[in-house]
Amino acid sequence: MPSMSANNFSRNTYHHQTKGDFFARKQKIEQQRKNLPIAAVERRLVEEVRNNDTLIIVGETGSGKTTQIPQYLFKGGFCRDGGIIGITQPRRVAAITVAKRVAEECGVPLGQEVGYAIRFEDVTSGQTKIKYMTDGLLLREALLDPYLSKYSVIIVDEAHERTIHTDVLLGLLKNVHKARSKSINGVANTEHNNNLNNGHALEERIDNQNDGILKACQAKKYSPLKLIIMSASLDARVFSEYFGGARAVHVQGRQFPVDIFYTHKPETDCIDAALITIFQIHLEEGPGDILVFLTGQEEIESVERLIHERLRQLPEGSRKLLTFPIFSSLPSEKQMKVFMPSPAGYRKVILATNIAETSVTIPGIKYVVDPGLVKARTYDPKMGVDSLIIVTTSKAQALQRSGRAGREGPGKCYRLYQESFFEKLTDSTLPEIRRCDLLNVVLQLKALGIDDVINFDFIEKPDRTAIVNSLWSLYLLGAVTEENKLSDVGHQMARLPLDPVYSKALIVASQFGCLKEMLICVAMLSVESIFYAPREKLEESRNALKSFASPEGDHLTLLNVYLTADEFFQKNKTVNSEEKAEKNLRKWCKDNYINSRSLKHARDIHSQILRNVEQMGLCVTSCEDDTLLFRRCLAASFFLKAAMKQPDGAYRVTLSGLIVQIHPSSVLFRAKPECIVFNELVHTNHSYVRNVSRIDYLWLVELAPHLYAVQD
Ligand code: ADP
Ligand code: MG
Repeated sequence: MPSMSANNFSRNTYHHQTKGDFFARKQKIEQQRKNLPIAAVERRLVEEVRNNDTLIIVGETGSGKTTQIPQYLFKGGFCRDGGIIGITQPRRVAAITVAKRVAEECGVPLGQEVGYAIRFEDVTSGQTKIKYMTDGLLLREALLDPYLSKYSVIIVDEAHERTIHTDVLLGLLKNVHKARSKSINGVANTEHNNNLNNGHALEERIDNQNDGILKACQAKKYSPLKLIIMSASLDARVFSEYFGGARAVHVQGRQFPVDIFYTHKPETDCIDAALITIFQIHLEEGPGDILVFLTGQEEIESVERLIHERLRQLPEGSRKLLTFPIFSSLPSEKQMKVFMPSPAGYRKVILATNIAETSVTIPGIKYVVDPGLVKARTYDPKMGVDSLIIVTTSKAQALQRSGRAGREGPGKCYRLYQESFFEKLTDSTLPEIRRCDLLNVVLQLKALGIDDVINFDFIEKPDRTAIVNSLWSLYLLGAVTEENKLSDVGHQMARLPLDPVYSKALIVASQFGCLKEMLICVAMLSVESIFYAPREKLEESRNALKSFASPEGDHLTLLNVYLTADEFFQKNKTVNSEEKAEKNLRKWCKDNYINSRSLKHARDIHSQILRNVEQMGLCVTSCEDDTLLFRRCLAASFFLKAAMKQPDGAYRVTLSGLIVQIHPSSVLFRAKPECIVFNELVHTNHSYVRNVSRIDYLWLVELAPHLYAVQD
């Protein structure tokens, strides 16, 4: 089969490979592509897309949907009119790894004909024809281009995951699709305003637009949009019904039998059970890599350490086990390592979050270890509490996980629970939109011109209270007016790729004259676990934290960490190369028990949002050492999450009345100030607040008078 370069793709060889290597690899990839289950139905699929403007494609993970279908459509001429093919993914890692793979399959450098775009990173160019991106990113693009006019095809991939962005995107695409079909019928091009589309959303959007876009809409003739929904779950009905009885096609997967093993008794320590199982497989089973499903970065990192510890106790010959973590916040170059074949004689253990359930296919897996847990978002609309908690998987998730073992041959799956327990699991997972804080969704929809969010045509209606609460919060934040319209501040907030509360904090900080500090603070708050506190070195890591700790709270502590690291880096750069300085910074992080990955991520986010606020014309000034001013700014930004100390030392959240404790990881855990603001609420056996700062209650009265009054 000719690669895409047979069309107008430029050909490029890789610098570090010899010609021989390159052709051998190319041939191997060609062979792999031909062998994919989907290759047999290429023509039929292209025909189906030609004949149906909306199509649902269902197929097993690994059948080739994500990597192949965009290439088939490109070859089939769907980019001929200059349109591009956009494929959305719920996860950043999938967008990146798949784009890399497809660029390689096509023999083109990444970022040219094949590229990807995720929040804070755009690897595409004017030549890009196949663009992988996160679903959240496409939603943002719709803010600037309500018709998504540059796309001739949009593929919503992994729709079965039903992330909140996917659900909102489906609703939006339904409107865009209608609008563009109408446009081609010649209505919209002459009388744009009333006849543009059925979806009132876009109509209002156009009303709200400035003349520039309005004229562009009038002038341009939109081609109809081909919309494809892809899913790995067999139940296509819900998507088909939502899109007015759209046609659904099934692609057969290739699945070998997988033996399922259960434990005889319930496991109390999941990590220990996983470790025992990993070593049992390693020492007693034949060749093949192991995939272990864990709940998050911290758990993955501690299992990784424990594996290395136990390996050291094994005889030399049994130590040929390599660990590879993969989770969404891991930098992509590290994630890519998972896909490399293990060296001869070695066995790989991949420690993954549910990212490896369906989003990515890792070759070589023969054994799956599944503790049956997943970290999931939950939301209590009454309390307005959004939290991440560890819950049991659904049956559908357990099946997806075990399926990972049977891709290349018969496999084995070890479920670390009893068979009777499996029977009790729910069939499928509740869509995220039903268990999430909707602040961001409501803000985004409003920014897209959809004012009546309650009656928006969601594929699954979110809880009404959750929407009403979000509207109320947006009103309190000044993003929505009393007439329920998006305010200027609201528009500004929607433009920033951040949690609305953080966007608001940046806007407030520009007025307070401490935007420099708030940018850093928000960047640090946007990443997971800056501090690295391994169980066995708790004392050392606590001491390291002390040198950064501010008695005023965690926000200033995070600021100290960033500034100290940055000073170290900048000084280093004056005498070293950038690369050396980066390396030294990683060493510095290690010495100071800072998670260098997270810090790097925060630095990247910082430079991106700095660009964003500069583009918006906000003034980036520093309050220098005026920490009082900065904390007043925190109060003015985070007043929705304030709490007062109770006589017993617990805290009462002012708006919800919820009783919480300060999390032990906070620098204020012992100090227990009278009044605090915080960013995060987590539930374990207690309700804890994290990222906490000391404020004065009177500041709330002064700075958020619509909510707070002087107490007796
Ligand atoms: P689906 O979307 O149906 O789950 P994909 O298109 O993602 O399937 O993957 C199809 C096949 O392509 C995989 O089974 C694997 O063999 C190969 N593949 C995909 N991504 C990569 C990658 N990053 N590295 C190596 N092989 C890959
Ligand atoms: Mg896929």
